[in-house]
Amino acid sequence: MDNLRIPGPTPLPDEVLKTMSRQMINHRGPEFKQIQDDVLTDLKKLFMTKNDVFLLTGSGTGGLEAGVVNTMSPGDKVLSVSIGVFGDRFAAIAKHFGADVTNLNVEWGKAADPDAVRKALQADPRIKTVLVTHNETSTGVTNDLKAISAVVKEFDKLLVVDAISSLGSIEMPVDDWNIDIAITGSQKGWMVPPGLAMVSVSQRGWQAHAESKIPSFYWDFGKAKDYLAKGQTPWTPAVNVIYGLEVALKMMLKEGLPNIFARHARIAQSVRDGIKALGLSLFAEESHASNTVSSVAGSNGLDTRKLVKIMREQEHVVLAGGQRTLDGKIFRIGHLGWVSDDDIKGFLSSLKKVLPQAGFKGG
Ligand SMILES: *Cc1c(COP(=O)(O)O)cnc(C)c1O
Repeated sequence: MDNLRIPGPTPLPDEVLKTMSRQMINHRGPEFKQIQDDVLTDLKKLFMTKNDVFLLTGSGTGGLEAGVVNTMSPGDKVLSVSIGVFGDRFAAIAKHFGADVTNLNVEWGKAADPDAVRKALQADPRIKTVLVTHNETSTGVTNDLKAISAVVKEFDKLLVVDAISSLGSIEMPVDDWNIDIAITGSQKGWMVPPGLAMVSVSQRGWQAHAESKIPSFYWDFGKAKDYLAKGQTPWTPAVNVIYGLEVALKMMLKEGLPNIFARHARIAQSVRDGIKALGLSLFAEESHASNTVSSVAGSNGLDTRKLVKIMREQEHVVLAGGQRTLDGKIFRIGHLGWVSDDDIKGFLSSLKKVLPQAGFKGG
């Protein structure tokens, strides 16, 4: 079996695989209501929130679109804090629906500076909403969301966060950090397949929803709330992903939140230590290196595209390359969700073996 080491989809535990093969049920019946209630009760513990949480059937990007269309009106001033591909995507969605986007773009590989966010908000008091990526999967960088949120709230703005590759793996207390809309995706840290976006909506988020004039139908939080009151979702949900999520959440709560965060931190550190011990260079600035995905630069003759291919074909370790302008410049390794120390040991020993074949002359 492959060692699937991309930043989502991740491998799935047997318990999750097994439960997902169960027979279908009526998604408008009492059994579904019970499962959804159970899932949402547990999800709120992981989000660390008392806000409303919804299961939306769609990929993470659908959740980002939902975050935009439910809170904005055409012409609204929005500050996009982008540190990579996914931050750019979030800005592009807002722009697509007519928001007037100011870009605070940070050099890829670095985190956003909360002071720069403060300056941008001072420069334009008309800004209503701030978009931020908590963990930028394309570069392997985690923003200091707590500090950024404190700045956003100094100015009393709406804060909409892409937490797709962080929630459930890296600490992100939605209520303590005043996140109005938090968005995550099932195939990242949640040990379930692709198919669900999970979002939380604060009181402030509901106010923005009431004022929003961007049309929405499928993603409308209002419909999601009305149907949730009946124990349903507005549209047919990804029932078996939800079966899986119910079991995965029990596993996560059994492990305990501090232990989940500590496991991700420990494993990420062992990845970074192992990479450096081989003479390779990390792409992300180390002070903000992500605990869910690591990025490695193609230094000392290393052909990262060739490396990804050799690792897959010879070692059955599946890595991710770089996206956009980082294609051919970095490779990435996912270490989120169902990941163990042994998975990383296997990755590092394979990497050591094949590096010379991929042109690497350092170390
Ligand atoms: C994966 C990811 C996305 C996109 O999610 P999809 O499920 O592929 O639509 C967006 N933002 C971040 C930070 C991600 O890691």
